[in-house]
Amino acid sequence: MLLLVDLDGVVYRGAEAVPGVAGVLTRRAAKGDKVMYVTNNSRWHRADYRTRLEGHGVPLGEGWDSVVTAARAAAVLLAERDPKPRVAMVFGGPGLARELREVGIRTVRPTPFGLAAAPDVLAVGVDFRLTYARLTTAVEAVRRGALFVATNRDPIYPGADGQLMAGAGAMVAAVAAAAMKEPDLVVGKPEPRLFEAAADAAGMPLNDAIVIGDGLTTDIRAANRVGARSVLMLTGVTTEADLARFPDIKPTRVAHNAKELEKALAELSA
Ligand SMILES: [Mg+2]
Repeated sequence: MLLLVDLDGVVYRGAEAVPGVAGVLTRRAAKGDKVMYVTNNSRWHRADYRTRLEGHGVPLGEGWDSVVTAARAAAVLLAERDPKPRVAMVFGGPGLARELREVGIRTVRPTPFGLAAAPDVLAVGVDFRLTYARLTTAVEAVRRGALFVATNRDPIYPGADGQLMAGAGAMVAAVAAAAMKEPDLVVGKPEPRLFEAAADAAGMPLNDAIVIGDGLTTDIRAANRVGARSVLMLTGVTTEADLARFPDIKPTRVAHNAKELEKALAELSA
């Protein structure tokens, strides 16, 4: 089976590992499952996640290809376009810029110099250097015809100390409001493209995949959209009360902890 594993709230919470999950994934990998890590985050490069995941003892293949971030998926999707974009303005983090460069797209910053390079794409992720000038320049790129690409629309995400941080979706919303235009392409969950990119990278079909995620309106909704089965982990952002609040979003199984996850995966693979 192909396991599409969300990171925050499933493998770790901030710096802390979710107890037992690394062991479950290691045993599944030993049984022949392909484990891919899929995150809406676009701030870091896959290599940075690999380093972090090594510290948690989860199974990783060779290289970086078992990690698919919204930044990597955006880069792959853009590289497949005809014509392929030449220049992307990056209103986001360093990982997003590096992923775009690695598929052969030149990147520029949201500055007047960047705008002068006539970017074909505005790529938006969490931008820790957000300023009024950067926002205004990013909006101008869209107004001049750049393809408006959102890595994800998450309004918030949990920070290291439990504080809620403004997510990429807040930056996407700011650009959309000022440009008076919705994004042309949204990559991250609950849109299907991130899971599609991960299945492509694994060389396996999505109808054989099991999504393991803690986000009902992101991970599980995306799983339902692509026809994958899913295990909702109650180890992160979703509570039992949320399950009742969104009766139309149905995970295949619900697990409170790693032990229940292992049982669910054993049943689903039978
Ligand atoms: Mg999560």
